Amino acid sequence: MGFVIAVQFLDYIWATLVLLGIEKLRVIKGFTAGSMLDSYFHPYSHSLIAAVVWSCVGAFVYKTVCSRVGYPCTRSAALIVGLAVFSHWILDLVAHPRDLAIYDNTLKVGFGLWNYRDPEFALEIGLLGAGILLYLTRNVMPAIRKGAVIAFGAALVVIQIGDTYVPRYPLTARQTVMGVWIFYTLFVVVAFFIEKIGSRRQTKML
Ligand SMILES: [Zn+2]
Repeated sequence: MGFVIAVQFLDYIWATLVLLGIEKLRVIKGFTAGSMLDSYFHPYSHSLIAAVVWSCVGAFVYKTVCSRVGYPCTRSAALIVGLAVFSHWILDLVAHPRDLAIYDNTLKVGFGLWNYRDPEFALEIGLLGAGILLYLTRNVMPAIRKGAVIAFGAALVVIQIGDTYVPRYPLTARQTVMGVWIFYTLFVVVAFFIEKIGSRRQTKML
């Protein structure tokens, strides 16, 4: 669950700042083949420098919360949380058209995989599959939790198919970021309950 929050952290900040009117977003039908989002101003959540800062914040918050609740937290665990936060920027760099600033709102980069719908979809599903496989093989868990993890993965695939291939009217910028908040939080809640399955509350989880 901690990782679900960590990898979505930058988009949580982004969605919040767009709602507050600080960062800007245009939703344009057909802007890229795989996404309608024209994020023309998001320096505080999505510039490279901001991503590094937020990754440090993520690692620091993780370490602080861990020691508050008495959960053993090593330096390397905090580092991994920081890297998980930063991995979001790397994947955005691959997917986004040139809208990611290096600092402030200048020197924009982005490889634009969103312009190629099928390869982009294949990458998303491949990463999801690899993540689930890693989670299932690196953790000992009862069969029922394994089933729940696979079902959650299948649901995410369905959502991704809908998002990528089902034609729809563009939402407003506000609706888009509200949707980000609602769906991302839903994913965190689902991950929280999946981790609970069969783990007789002997561990506190973040
Ligand atoms: Zn992002």
